[in-house]
Amino acid sequence: MLKDSKIFIPNHHDMVGASILHQLRQDGYSNIITRDDNELDLTDEFATDIFFESAKPEFVFCFAGSHGGIIKNTSYPADIIYEVLKVQIAIIHAAYKHKVNKLLFLAGNCIYPKFSNQPIVEDFFMDGKMEPTSAAYSTARAAGVEMCWAYNRQYGTNFIPAILPNYYGPGDDYTEDGHVLASILNKIYNAKVTNLSKVVLWGTGTPKRQFMFSQDIARACILIMNTYSSTELINISGGEELSIFEIAHKTKELVGYSGEIIFDSNKPDGTPRKLMDNSKLKALNFFEQTCFDEGLLLLYNDYLTNFVKH
Ligand code: GDP
Repeated sequence: MLKDSKIFIPNHHDMVGASILHQLRQDGYSNIITRDDNELDLTDEFATDIFFESAKPEFVFCFAGSHGGIIKNTSYPADIIYEVLKVQIAIIHAAYKHKVNKLLFLAGNCIYPKFSNQPIVEDFFMDGKMEPTSAAYSTARAAGVEMCWAYNRQYGTNFIPAILPNYYGPGDDYTEDGHVLASILNKIYNAKVTNLSKVVLWGTGTPKRQFMFSQDIARACILIMNTYSSTELINISGGEELSIFEIAHKTKELVGYSGEIIFDSNKPDGTPRKLMDNSKLKALNFFEQTCFDEGLLLLYNDYLTNFVKH
């Protein structure tokens, strides 16, 4: 990408899109295009096509459509698969039709099989059954990966699919629909301010996850866009692996909650482990800047400033 390349970020209000937008601006990119939901409905193929025709973006960071944590995935699987498939079809097809130079397509690590060997290498994609609680979402994203490759094969496009780890950061969804860290931060904080003696979290607490700070995700996405010369799948991951029990207790300590944390094992755990191999990303000279404890503090500050006070 040149500093004045036309770059489109769909879903720029969402945390990942917002982080990419922020990082691109910080890196001096000056020609970034965004559209609010009321300006462009990405589920509308026709409107998306007209937008691409007039805006003519050269690069697209595509992480569009509804997504969320295990609670949202189990509550709204139909809404999610419908929306994600529609926006992907609209964006990928328009990117081909209007000759986008390069499109980075992002999918979550739930697209890998539930019981993968660890660390998960890119070759494990479609090598086993997906975790059922997120299967609607993951199937839609897997279709997006294959759609990128299909357009590359048939039309010679340059669409790169990349897999995101568990991520968190400022602007996260702190509601029950959100991903685990933001969602349990809100639960633990609320338990503290309402003097609850215990807070109940989902599952057994034993699943392990690698958490990556949103700004590091954005840096990795920009690096891939600029330097990855393949269209094979590439994992974005790094950092220490922690159990849900460990992150809950780190959060409890940070918030200063003195009650008890209970794990409700009647609720699903999801995938037991999602440690992704990051050799391909490391080969591009990627290094993480924010460790978990530091990122958790930044998350908490954002939560207090932008969520609790509003
Ligand atoms: P998510 O996309 O952040 O939900 O992440 P995963 O599906 O990879 O895993 C979340 C893990 O945290 C699962 O084992 C859940 O059972 C557990 N968990 C416990 N409490 C919560 C919660 O309030 N929200 C979410 N999203 N997950 C929770």
